[in-house]
Amino acid sequence: MALNHSNHKHGEGRECVITRRACFSSSHRYWLPEKSSEENFALFGKCSFSPGHGHNYELIVSMGGELDPYGMVLNLSDVKHSIKDKVTGPLDFRFLNEVWPEFDMSNQAGILPTTEALVRIIWNRLRNDLPLTSLRLYESPTLWADYHGKKMEALLTVQTHFNAAHRLAKDEISLNENKKIYGKCARVNGHGHNYFLDVTVRGDIDPRTGMICDLPSLQNIINDLIVEQLDHTFLNKDIEYFKTCVPTCENIALYISDILCNPIKNIGANLHKIRLQESPNNAAEIYVEQSLSNSLQINLENSLVTQA
Ligand SMILES: [Zn+2]
Ligand SMILES: [Zn+2]
Repeated sequence: MALNHSNHKHGEGRECVITRRACFSSSHRYWLPEKSSEENFALFGKCSFSPGHGHNYELIVSMGGELDPYGMVLNLSDVKHSIKDKVTGPLDFRFLNEVWPEFDMSNQAGILPTTEALVRIIWNRLRNDLPLTSLRLYESPTLWADYHGKKMEALLTVQTHFNAAHRLAKDEISLNENKKIYGKCARVNGHGHNYFLDVTVRGDIDPRTGMICDLPSLQNIINDLIVEQLDHTFLNKDIEYFKTCVPTCENIALYISDILCNPIKNIGANLHKIRLQESPNNAAEIYVEQSLSNSLQINLENSLVTQA
């Protein structure tokens, strides 16, 4: 039965999720005082260098609730004030390691200010002021973390890209039939795309290193197993799997998720999602952990991720 909203005056009382974006620039350093310089370098590479380095962070705050008589979930000027008061004010142009007591590494309970640790602590700072549904924090356009208020659990996404050619056609049917199904994509000599690949992993944030998993290891897995293999190839001819499977955006995303699943488990995280953007107009998403898929996240993706 369809819902009847005719009793609601201009949507009052109905639910909605709103988002607000805020930016700040901060520096940080990954350094565990209980380890030697060599050990810190082995763990964190250049991120261990003194006195640190900086990022232009972008924070996306999602909040949910019922519309008030003025047609708003919240008054945006209150939202702006809370974010400035609790987050951008204290963090902008500061050294994160020294700003909040949670990042004091001389304390045994101190945690390094990684993207995933930072987004969780921002949640704790905002949660009494705002009806949060999710937070996303971009450290750069190619690295971001999502937090949904679930204890130490967070999502971390790495974006990379590769270029490849393909042709969409099935061997067992005629050229005319292929053209009917796949259109121009069935033309016999193929065509190419600049693919953008987002790999999202889920896991618990380590209480000391602030990391879901070792980031260079994750980047190496994606680079060695996917980018190096697929970049500058003709997928149908160069990749064994696509000799018998049509390399649609969906099939390529599935292929990537099947390859990455176990290696990511081996570094202590769970592959949560693959998003493959084939062109500015089309993309495919595979939710590897089905129980965690939710439409809210999908909407956030589609509306807010800016493509290079
Ligand atoms: Zn950094
Ligand atoms: Zn194509």
